[in-house]
Amino acid sequence: MNQISPENIYDVAIIGGGLAGLSLSIQLAKAGYRVVLFEKEKYPFHRVCGEYISLESWDFINELGLDLNKMNLPHIKNLQVSAPGGKSISHELDLGGFGISRYRLDHELYKVAKNAGVEIRENTKVDEVTFSNELFTVSCKNNAVVSKVLAAAFGKRSNLDIKWSRSFILKKSGKLNNYIGVKYHIETDHPADTIALHNFQNGYCGISKIEDGKYCLCYLTTAANLKNHHNSIPEMEKMVLQKNPFLKTIFNNATFLYSSPVTISQISFDKKSPVENHILMIGDSAGMITPLCGNGMSMAFNSGKIAFQLIQKFLQRLLTRIEMEDQYRIEWNKQFAGRLRAGRIIQSLFGKESLTNIFISLLKPFPSIITRLIKSTHGKPF
Ligand SMILES: Cc1cc2nc3c(=O)[nH]c(=O)nc-3n(C[C@H](O)[C@H](O)[C@H](O)COP(=O)(O)OP(=O)(O)OC[C@H]3O[C@@H](n4cnc5c(N)ncnc54)[C@H](O)[C@@H]3O)c2cc1C
Repeated sequence: MNQISPENIYDVAIIGGGLAGLSLSIQLAKAGYRVVLFEKEKYPFHRVCGEYISLESWDFINELGLDLNKMNLPHIKNLQVSAPGGKSISHELDLGGFGISRYRLDHELYKVAKNAGVEIRENTKVDEVTFSNELFTVSCKNNAVVSKVLAAAFGKRSNLDIKWSRSFILKKSGKLNNYIGVKYHIETDHPADTIALHNFQNGYCGISKIEDGKYCLCYLTTAANLKNHHNSIPEMEKMVLQKNPFLKTIFNNATFLYSSPVTISQISFDKKSPVENHILMIGDSAGMITPLCGNGMSMAFNSGKIAFQLIQKFLQRLLTRIEMEDQYRIEWNKQFAGRLRAGRIIQSLFGKESLTNIFISLLKPFPSIITRLIKSTHGKPF
């Protein structure tokens, strides 16, 4: 390898510009480090997400430099859960959350990152990464950069997961993988302070308010469910989702604002590793919580904060690389491993029509159990 001049070496390179990658980049740039972030899409863009954010993240997002108070966003204090047969329970949320589209949130954070001095390379997909002589080389189609630290924030499933043959990619199709996600923005009649989770055979659908009077309607189901309906989303929605009377009312009365939904496939909730080949994995790339917990975005932000603190210590030579990796692994497991476990257990109680009907009926007289279940999948403000 030719000698690389120091001015061509970034302190940190980040792959993926969702919430984890953008928030990490902002913290590093504000602390004075030279940061490059690669994002394969161009901002602003839509993503599949329920767009309900736990208030855990409120202060952190404001500290990043995005003044949420000025954005007039809906605050969500109540949860409604319905069973496929139509029985429902309502519950006041302890901490609650707020609604904002990912189109808006990611775009606002992108602008904060640019202003903070992050070099953002859009429309740029990273194809390969190598590590030698304590430096990473991050390669895309037309060029490569070199960095001292590399963070992977590339989300649920990326070309690099496949390239690196990560263990969750090699797993056979099972209960924790091969899900699909579908999202719409709609106009409808729904209480602004309530997030509803409507269950159906092999899936659930969330609805909650976002900005500008719109609502996000987003569901998760198995790939098999779609296949059983000739791979037709409208057919599956009619034959399966609309058996739940709440969803039938929404689908028949709402105004759908896109000509077609945003979709993703091959979602996996299997275990992942928070460090791979000296790369710190943040957000969904380190582990994905089941969406019914409504906490993935806060975990993405929180892991970005934990990574920032340790990367900074490494760059200040207060930690060796191995110490940084070990401490990240320990802190990540302390913060998130329990939540992911609880999310997997709760996910298994939803899906089967009769089991969900019974589970909802059993929970109804015991609000304290609902509070405990929610707490087991959430953390504290950070
Ligand atoms: C159906 C569904 C509903 C959900 N609802 C909620 C909810 O209501 N509340 C909540 O808190 N969480 C929810 N989540 C979870 C939440 O969306 C994620 O946890 C969160 O988006 C994770 O952020 P991230 O930054 O890790 O990844 P992402 O936001 O997915 O960002 C990853 C980025 O990496 C980019 N990328 C990938 N590969 C490359 C590459 N090789 N080179 C360059 N760029 C690359 C992608 O384009 C993407 O922009 C939901 C998830 C699903 C599937």
